[in-house]
Amino acid sequence: VSAPETHAFEADVSKLLHMMVHSVYSDKDVFLRELISNAADACEKLRYEAISDPALFGDDPQPRITLALDKEAGTIVVEDNGIGMSAADMGETLGTIARSGTKAFMDRLTADKNGEGQQLIGQFGVGFYSAFMVAGNVDVVSRRAGTDEAASWSSDGLGTYTIAKVDPAVAPARGTRVTLHLLDDAKTYAERYTVERIVKAQSGHVPVPIFIKELGSEEEERQVADGAALWTKAKSDISEEDYADFYRSVAGQFDKPALTLHYRAEGRHEYSVLTFIPETKPFDLFDPDRKGRIKLYVRRVFITDEAEILPRYLRFVRGLVDSADLPLNMSREMIQDSPVLSAIQKGVSNRILSELDKIATSEPDRYRAIWENFGAVLKEGLYEDFERRAQLLGLARFKTSMSNGEWRSLKDYAASLKDNQTAIYYATGTDLDRIAQSPQLEGFKARGIEVLLLPDQVDSFWTTVGADYDGKPFKSVTQGATDLSLIPLAEGSAATDAPSEDVSSFISFAKDALADQVSDVRVSDRLTTSAVCIVASESAMDLQLERMLAAAGQ
Ligand code: ADP
Ligand code: MG
Repeated sequence: VSAPETHAFEADVSKLLHMMVHSVYSDKDVFLRELISNAADACEKLRYEAISDPALFGDDPQPRITLALDKEAGTIVVEDNGIGMSAADMGETLGTIARSGTKAFMDRLTADKNGEGQQLIGQFGVGFYSAFMVAGNVDVVSRRAGTDEAASWSSDGLGTYTIAKVDPAVAPARGTRVTLHLLDDAKTYAERYTVERIVKAQSGHVPVPIFIKELGSEEEERQVADGAALWTKAKSDISEEDYADFYRSVAGQFDKPALTLHYRAEGRHEYSVLTFIPETKPFDLFDPDRKGRIKLYVRRVFITDEAEILPRYLRFVRGLVDSADLPLNMSREMIQDSPVLSAIQKGVSNRILSELDKIATSEPDRYRAIWENFGAVLKEGLYEDFERRAQLLGLARFKTSMSNGEWRSLKDYAASLKDNQTAIYYATGTDLDRIAQSPQLEGFKARGIEVLLLPDQVDSFWTTVGADYDGKPFKSVTQGATDLSLIPLAEGSAATDAPSEDVSSFISFAKDALADQVSDVRVSDRLTTSAVCIVASESAMDLQLERMLAAAGQ
């Protein structure tokens, strides 16, 4: 037992809390989902640690989450018998911003100029701190599994918090008790009716059973969620709503899944897969670490969400894989190198791509929506995943110089090739409209040759790896003396005559004047209305790539 020590919140936490407290965001219900998900995580962590140290379970092996409501006192308590926290754990996790998702949220918030932040809370889980949306004071008491030491954490969310070692008698036998002293306008969260409704809607499928008890009520403690793992149920027993709830709790997203993939692989390896493609872009999509979030379970025990089950270019896919063959007592590091995991990685990745293929063919509108959100990420696979490049090229969609803003596949492109056209032409840049206006495109337009407009950063990379489609290489419109002369001008376009004397003397003049800056000046077929344009030489880098590398100081 120690005197409470006072600490200041990390600057980012203070900012976040300020937002939370002053939030006019109406859907405050989300705090409960966050606390329940922490409690469930804690139970799953314990289950995992108990594989190598079964004594951690003591005489209480059944995980549970209990919500205790006290209308009189205006409190709601979320208690779990999970792994628990020591005083040191609390110092590290409740006062800092631990998870990268929350960091991404903060970055968005800082960049946010139009008060969009209020809405962002709703689309984005902000973890433990969301308790302060409904509570003026939050107390946490916890005992780490396998220890006799208990600790407490308290805060009013206004800048500081205190941590103390406390008498274990006031703590749960194991796990964590979070008490929320509800604000006046949030007292409804001490009522069974409200809480039960929210739990069923938001957390009905967390893999730990949830109970509600109401202080001073006749009624017994009641179970509101059964803790059965949704993915082990038969598809026919699962409603779309069930999937959506589960998606929100496993993905930490607040939208709906755009695609749900639930199946069981049998044969050499047995595993269940329940994955989702979100309807909107997750906030951490372009985090520098480009990590995925697929959870790995072994026979319903959560093992890790760092197994990188999917390649990075599928990092927007959320959900889990539950293996029946991996040994439970294998360390996370060894799992990483296991051939069983490689088989799973391969199987799931292939299945997701073939599912996308199917939708692309049978439900093009639905596929377009997925491509709009995640196309830029999928294209990373074009240079990272040689084996699946052809398949990814088949999935790719492009806006082109002739598509009027519509998405076109390479199959569409190939079908409208001009006679004698030997390459697939593309133009890169940072802005679709500007690329479309580029003088580099004039000669192509005049000949009715379609040009892919590539506005994403990743486009400057995959186009350099020597990919081809249908035997046709990709060729930048900025690169070299693209030979367009074999392709006739479309009717109505003025032909380029042989260079007159004036032009020839201008070229000599330009060569002299720009001697140090360019390697050549020549007459070109590629322009129709503009007088000049800059091109890269055939063997050199694409212009946009050169600009990007220069900007990155390369
Ligand atoms: P996240 O859950 O994404 O890590 P949170 O803000 O929800 O972010 O929680 C921060 C951290 O606090 C957790 O990662 C965990 O270490 C700790 N924590 C929160 N609630 C509990 C709990 N009930 N039991 C054990 N640890 C917890
Ligand atoms: Mg959490």
